[in-house]
Formats: sequence, C-alpha cells, structure tokens
Amino acid sequence: MNDQHSTTGRGRLRMHLVQALTRAESDAVQQHLRAALEEWERQPPTHLQECPVCGKVGLPERIQQHRCGKPGTDRY
Ligand SMILES: [Zn+2]
Repeated sequence: MNDQHSTTGRGRLRMHLVQALTRAESDAVQQHLRAALEEWERQPPTHLQECPVCGKVGLPERIQQHRCGKPGTDRY
C-alpha cells in the first residue's frame, strides 16, 4: 500500500474493506466485501489537490498547469 493512498479517504475506505475481508468468516459476507472492493477499483480517481498559493482546487495535473496568481488568464 502506498503512503499517498493510505492517507486519503479513498485509501482508508479500501483498507477497511480489506481488513473486514480478512476477518470475515461467512462466505456470504466475504462475497459482499469482494464485490465492494471491485466497485472501489472501478471508481475513477477523485483525489483533488489545492493550490497552496491561490487556493484553486482541481485534479493534480490541472493544478500543476494552471496559471497561478494571474487573474483573467487562468484557463483550464
Ligand atoms: Zn494557484
């Protein structure tokens, strides 16, 4: 597990599902947990980043490319 994932809500959600799966004794419960994990894997990455300078929030690659501190020229 990488550090970035484990510190996000998404990472923690997955961690809890995995932990539950390792402790589940019922086949039916394990089946549901595996299904939940599969759904989790299908979700697109949603972790957004905030620009420390202007506070703009967006995908990390967008934030890296945005024209920071230049109002009016900031286009995605
Ligand atoms: Zn900025």
